[in-house]
Amino acid sequence: MAALLEESLAAGAAELGIGISDQDMALYRKYYQLLQEENSKYNLTSLEGEREVAVKHFLDSLCCAGVLDFNHKLVVDIGTGAGFPGVPLKINCRDMVLVLVDSVKKKVGFLDLLIEKLDLADVKTRWDRAETMGRAEEFRERADIVVSRAVASLNVLAEICLPLVKLGGWFLSLKGPGAKEELAGALRAVDLMGGGLERVENLILPIFNEERNLILIRKVAHTPEKYPRREGMPAKRPIV
Ligand code: SAM
Repeated sequence: MAALLEESLAAGAAELGIGISDQDMALYRKYYQLLQEENSKYNLTSLEGEREVAVKHFLDSLCCAGVLDFNHKLVVDIGTGAGFPGVPLKINCRDMVLVLVDSVKKKVGFLDLLIEKLDLADVKTRWDRAETMGRAEEFRERADIVVSRAVASLNVLAEICLPLVKLGGWFLSLKGPGAKEELAGALRAVDLMGGGLERVENLILPIFNEERNLILIRKVAHTPEKYPRREGMPAKRPIV
């Protein structure tokens, strides 16, 4: 008989139209176990139950797979924490190349352990701030897709994430209810960074029936050189 994690994942994924193989299920089980074992050491998540982690971390991350094609893409996850949404997306789409970024060193320590335990190829971790990466030639306007969940308000995210996206690429922001109001206050920043709002996908998270909004922003022009501003400034003096 399937345990709660597997049961919730299977039921929720079916509702979202996403397939999860037996091999992937085993990876989610390992991921869950590692989160439980290491949570107190790394302060990774406040969610503990199998159903909650399955839905609010794993499935919530997987929702992105329904709106963009991640195959063969270079994907950067900014402020990934314990690996969300990047790692579930990588489990779902093995041929993408993933860079997991977080500004807290110990979280990156957890991510290194996770990647090793799950034996995932083409995943790099980086202890850095998005603002610093956005000014580095190695990362500026290189990513096909930048994703980010629960890191900052959308106007701040636009400044720190869009400089990393290449022309024609995407910035995908995962938001809960209230996303439309947040978006209205971020359109200027999006435009200044060379972004163009494509659409907002509104959906209901299975099992818990919570509202989610996936904001899709396309990189339509180069980001002016003066952006992003130096570390901390985008959040301290957000563009309004
Ligand atoms: N994305 C994960 C999730 O949804 O569970 C983690 C969210 S956690 C609330 C926010 C994370 O963003 C933290 O781990 C923090 O260290 C990281 N962070 C905040 N600002 C950042 C920045 N400018 N560059 C890189 N990481 C950042």
